[in-house]
Amino acid sequence: MAAKKFVYFFGPQGSEGNATMKNTLGGKGANLAEMCNMEIPVPAGFTIATDMCTVYYKNERNYPPELAEQVDENLKKIEAVMGKKFGDPQNPLLLSVRSGARASMPGMMDTILNLGLNETTLNGLIKKESDTRFAWDSLRRFMQMYGNVVMGIKGEHFEQAITSLKNKYGIKNDLEMTVENLKELVESYKVIVKEQTGKDFPTDPKEQLWGAIDAVFGSWMNERAIVYRKMNGFSDDWGTAVNVQAMVFGNMGDDCATGVAFTRNPATGEHIFFGEYLINAQGEDVVAGIRTPQQVTLEGSKKWAAEHNISEEERASKYPSLEEYMPEVYENLCNIYKKLELHYHDMQDIEFTIENRKLWMLQTRNGKRTAAAAVKIAVDMVNEGLIETDDALLRVTPDQIDQLLHPQFVKESKKSAKLITKGLPASPGAGTGQIVFNAEDAAAWRAQGLDTILVRLETSPEDITGMVAANGILTGRGGMTSHAAVVARGMGKCCVSGCGGLNIDVEGKTIKAGDLVLKEGDWISIDGSTGEVLLGKVATETPQFNDEFEKLMNWADNRRTLKIRTNADTPRDAAQARKFGAQGIGLCRTEHMFFEGDRIKAVREMILADDLEGRKAALAKLIGHQRDDFYAILKEMQGLPVTVRLLDPPLHEFLPSEPQQIKEMAEIMGCTEEIINDKIKALHEINPMLGLRGCRLGITRPEITEMQTRALIEAACELTKEGIKVFPEIMVPLVGNVNEFKYQEKIIRETAAKVFEEKGINVEFLVGTMIEVPRGALTADEIAEHAEFFSFGTNDLTQMCLGYSRDDANKFIYQYIDKGILEKNPFRSIDQTGVGQLVEIAAKRGKKARPNIKLGVCGEHGGDPASIDFFHRCGLQYVSCSPYRVPIARLSAAQAAINNDVVRQIKQTAEDAYSKAETTAKDVYNTAKDAYSKAESGLKNLKETLENSEELKKGVEGAKKLFNDIKDKFKKD
Ligand code: ADP
Ligand code: MG
Ligand code: MG
Repeated sequence: MAAKKFVYFFGPQGSEGNATMKNTLGGKGANLAEMCNMEIPVPAGFTIATDMCTVYYKNERNYPPELAEQVDENLKKIEAVMGKKFGDPQNPLLLSVRSGARASMPGMMDTILNLGLNETTLNGLIKKESDTRFAWDSLRRFMQMYGNVVMGIKGEHFEQAITSLKNKYGIKNDLEMTVENLKELVESYKVIVKEQTGKDFPTDPKEQLWGAIDAVFGSWMNERAIVYRKMNGFSDDWGTAVNVQAMVFGNMGDDCATGVAFTRNPATGEHIFFGEYLINAQGEDVVAGIRTPQQVTLEGSKKWAAEHNISEEERASKYPSLEEYMPEVYENLCNIYKKLELHYHDMQDIEFTIENRKLWMLQTRNGKRTAAAAVKIAVDMVNEGLIETDDALLRVTPDQIDQLLHPQFVKESKKSAKLITKGLPASPGAGTGQIVFNAEDAAAWRAQGLDTILVRLETSPEDITGMVAANGILTGRGGMTSHAAVVARGMGKCCVSGCGGLNIDVEGKTIKAGDLVLKEGDWISIDGSTGEVLLGKVATETPQFNDEFEKLMNWADNRRTLKIRTNADTPRDAAQARKFGAQGIGLCRTEHMFFEGDRIKAVREMILADDLEGRKAALAKLIGHQRDDFYAILKEMQGLPVTVRLLDPPLHEFLPSEPQQIKEMAEIMGCTEEIINDKIKALHEINPMLGLRGCRLGITRPEITEMQTRALIEAACELTKEGIKVFPEIMVPLVGNVNEFKYQEKIIRETAAKVFEEKGINVEFLVGTMIEVPRGALTADEIAEHAEFFSFGTNDLTQMCLGYSRDDANKFIYQYIDKGILEKNPFRSIDQTGVGQLVEIAAKRGKKARPNIKLGVCGEHGGDPASIDFFHRCGLQYVSCSPYRVPIARLSAAQAAINNDVVRQIKQTAEDAYSKAETTAKDVYNTAKDAYSKAESGLKNLKETLENSEELKKGVEGAKKLFNDIKDKFKKD
């Protein structure tokens, strides 16, 4: 059997690999191979496959013997193509050794350039007198890079040697170093290497090469790389490839250069070629920032000069564009970038080097871009006919849409700010303001036009006004689904929660973080997208929606089948959500309405009242407010469905806790504070989440259900009379038993009928339930006999299915994720295998019992892309999420439709199969070609052997004859 193939050649006559082989060749190697196949000039080289990395680690960091053979074989091929020889003193081939995993990965080994140089081979670089300095400079750069990256010597040792040499001769600038200086430097480098490693710097090119290959594979398991993989969910099993490539020189004089470019502007997405280059320089100089890079295009150069207050004269003489400096090369580069974009159907990030006016491409990949650029490029490319709308929809990530919706820190401003600590990124966006420690202060400061950040240990519904007034919310406790997080996301306000690193003293109005003490009025800035808490004022900016964004969203709306509703409790949220494209309200929580102004007192009266009379009297004070709220929300939604949930939370959440509030309630109710305190104690529950809440409230206190229904239906009747369309849906929470639902439904329908009679008008409405108790999901068929819709309350469903309290889970969930027990937080992204089954079962049984049942989701998961994909597959009709997630959900729903499109999948499979077949066919062809040439030479050998054996026969026969002759002769004698 043939040895396994580990090494793949690429060169001007074509490559053994191509762009589809990223898993084997890494991103860099696959694209180098592809460019060669496209007849784009790339210095020849070979890629050692990622499989080798895996084998290397399995074999305790050893290579199988065939690797050396394959490397030698391919090195010969490079030599043949480039017309140079590795290690040759007259005409040496030099190499670069470059790492490259599937995805580009910081933390991997740095590229080594000029490998193969030593004091003998450097003479071969010197074609003319002026090359001498270049040759010695290349050697000392190589020793420095290799010493650092491969031999692990700290860079500062080499830097020190340069500094002391410069001091010794009074040299200011590196470029002033003479050949003699550089020779002296090389000598001192040798000493450093010996001192630091106890070894000599390797001069044998082959030894250098294997040292570098070892270093690349070794870097796969260095700590930086491991941490990066973990952060990004990349597998350790991927391995890295090693690219070994012939060097080309951008630093051999003024007709040489090196540069990087993007085929479109990566910041704005504008369709303008955008690049920078340096004359007479090698790759690392562009990023090193020692010299000012010049612009590739003339237009870009003029813009750059204007931004830097550089006159046109100075620009043209000192910093000319490549377009002006080497027009033919520039034209060539333009042709290549256009060809690459057309080929890859995406914006490319390219690296190139010019050696004596000859252009060489060294890398291409899909370019990283900002959210705004992602949208613009995707839409532009559809308009240009490069991609389909489906491709455009898949090009923009839901996260990028998220970024576009929230204020962000101005990059430069953030760079200079000091990081205090990091909490949970609870609600995205950036906010800056002066610290306040309670809601009243936040509101009062806002009224004076001041910017604030509200800092609390955790928030409660009473903090809402303060949260509205502040620019951001920072809490010491609580997770991603804490009150602060959920409410902030609903408002589109940034929030960092669970900041354990801060010692927050709300009473004393101080925050301690290590030695740092912050007081009320001090400026801080928080980034709810990253969880960062920064000291001082950081400037923010709000991106604007543009035509491209609207267009992309339009395509998403046409593509998706899931409808997107919003969770909104106020007309303001409802209006915001409609602007973002919400098609209804999936969850209107009525309890938030109970906190506004003086209402909370009436609510407390209702809860604390001794008898039905007292409760009804208190409810009578509330009904008007509630009707007004419903009126405003229904009016805002103009006939779109509005799901109103009946009162849900445990009553103790509404009770007074402060002595002042208790005193106040005693006065209102005409009793002692002691009595109030006793009643509060009596309402205490050991486990309120599983206590008197949800429909259990409406069943034990039917007058609440009656009041809420009346308020809603009266508002609906009023609006209908005014000629405004309404479509209310009344939702009973926490049903686990069909009888619970039936009991509530009866009250609702009877109350509604009464109102219709009073008003002399009828309004269409639905009565349905939340599915959020596991038993409710399992008996969905029974419930669907009566309920007209189901809305999955996936927060409670997750809590009860997993048995994790959602208010306490963050004490262990992040450890669970770290330790690999959970892949992600089930309160953010639905647990498809567990909780998901309950959703599937309930949807199936519900539909069976009532084929036209409406099915939706109103939990936090309704705004999570992976969960949306799951709900799409379950065949639900809508998801509901907070207003600021509506556009994200619109895109995610479109992506779910595309990714689960069977026709598209089949097409994709066929395309994959075709390209695999092509690769296999190529392999077969190469193997056959190899076999043929081996057979041919074998045949030749055989023939020679046979010919030889003819001679042998002749010889033997001759000898025999001679022998016989002699015998005869003797006989005769
Ligand atoms: P990174 O992954 O960090 O971009 P690369 O392997 O692309 O690292 O190498 C960085 C730079 O080194 C390249 O952009 C190029 O300028 C230079 N370089 C790499 N290989 C060669 C080569 N064969 N000839 C000339 N320069 C090279
Ligand atoms: Mg690169
Ligand atoms: Mg619930």
